[in-house]
Amino acid sequence: MDFTMGHRKRVNGKTVLDWLRETDPRQLARLYAAADKARREFVGHAVHLRGLVEISNHCRRHCLYCGLRTENCALLRYRMRAEEILEAARTGLRLGYGTIVLQAGEDPALSCGWVAELVRQIKGEIGLPITLSLGERSEEELTAWREAGADRYLLRFETSDAELFRRIHPSLPGNPSDRVALLRLLQRLDYEVGGGVMIGIPGQSYASLARDIERFGELNLDMIGVGPYLPHPATPLANGAVPPAEDQVSGNEEMVYKVIALARLVCPEANIPSTTALATLNRVDGRERGLLAGANVIMPSLTPSQYRPLYEIYPNKACVFETSEQCAGCLRRRIRSLGRVWGSGPGRRVQMAGGMARTNPRSFAAEAVGLTV
Ligand code: SAH
Repeated sequence: MDFTMGHRKRVNGKTVLDWLRETDPRQLARLYAAADKARREFVGHAVHLRGLVEISNHCRRHCLYCGLRTENCALLRYRMRAEEILEAARTGLRLGYGTIVLQAGEDPALSCGWVAELVRQIKGEIGLPITLSLGERSEEELTAWREAGADRYLLRFETSDAELFRRIHPSLPGNPSDRVALLRLLQRLDYEVGGGVMIGIPGQSYASLARDIERFGELNLDMIGVGPYLPHPATPLANGAVPPAEDQVSGNEEMVYKVIALARLVCPEANIPSTTALATLNRVDGRERGLLAGANVIMPSLTPSQYRPLYEIYPNKACVFETSEQCAGCLRRRIRSLGRVWGSGPGRRVQMAGGMARTNPRSFAAEAVGLTV
């Protein structure tokens, strides 16, 4: 498949690229309505809750965008103990969340054996599906964790522009970063796999973001996480390390909704979160608007209060000063206000079976909403 063709594919008589440039509110309302319809038909009314435990903010990486980067000496580092993580997972079960997500900086002290044992303990005691998001790890580790019972893995490829990715995400010595290859490996290991990008990275053009969206379809991702790039003052990217692209794309709220909607139309069966970064841009109703533009997942924090402010990948994160219980109550109200329902069960990616129209969900979604893809 030719990825460079992607941005010329037509949606609703327009290319993905045209849609990213669209500013007419009536046209955008059509786009969001089409995405919302595809969301309803393919993944239904349930909003799946994935409880996020940020288990360590140690990181060996030098990413130019992230506040956890090794060089950020001002950040107090923490690593949760297994018992603390188990307690957070118990809270998630009690609050009715369908999945436990364990996320961290790329922390070598989270060793292969320790994580495998943790996964076994959580699965044994709590029983919920487990998603890992621990950065770029070896095939041996990923295999061991899958065997221990981990169900899913999240690894955003951040941008499909290889040159830009290299600049903002330096490889470790002797180990070139290839996140797309890792996503494929995760698929071979039979994980449910999530990828995604940041929107508005300095140096990211409209055409490049359009290619990212096409790439979601090509990779056949189960989950797609997109959110705005939010500058962290203690990082090089916030301080002009990469100049804006000639045709620089903005990471504003509207752009995030457009990308969520287009991702839904390109991957109608995928699980798509309305992210905390989006809620940070619009604390009033960013989450709801994301859910109305095609999203069907929320990832509320289960991180204990004392650690929350320290998992500072970007500043002023939404929900940092709330407890897990407060987050759950707030989200119940928000979900109900939209007439949607709190998801029950694991919320696996639904793959439509049988039937001519269902064999290519992508064109089926387009057809169902009167679009040509
Ligand atoms: N170490 C893991 C988890 C990182 S945090 C990993 O690299 O996969 C998860 C996501 O947060 C990243 O993939 C990135 O897309 C996002 N992120 C990091 N810094 C950010 C920033 N400054 N603004 C917005 N999102 C950011």
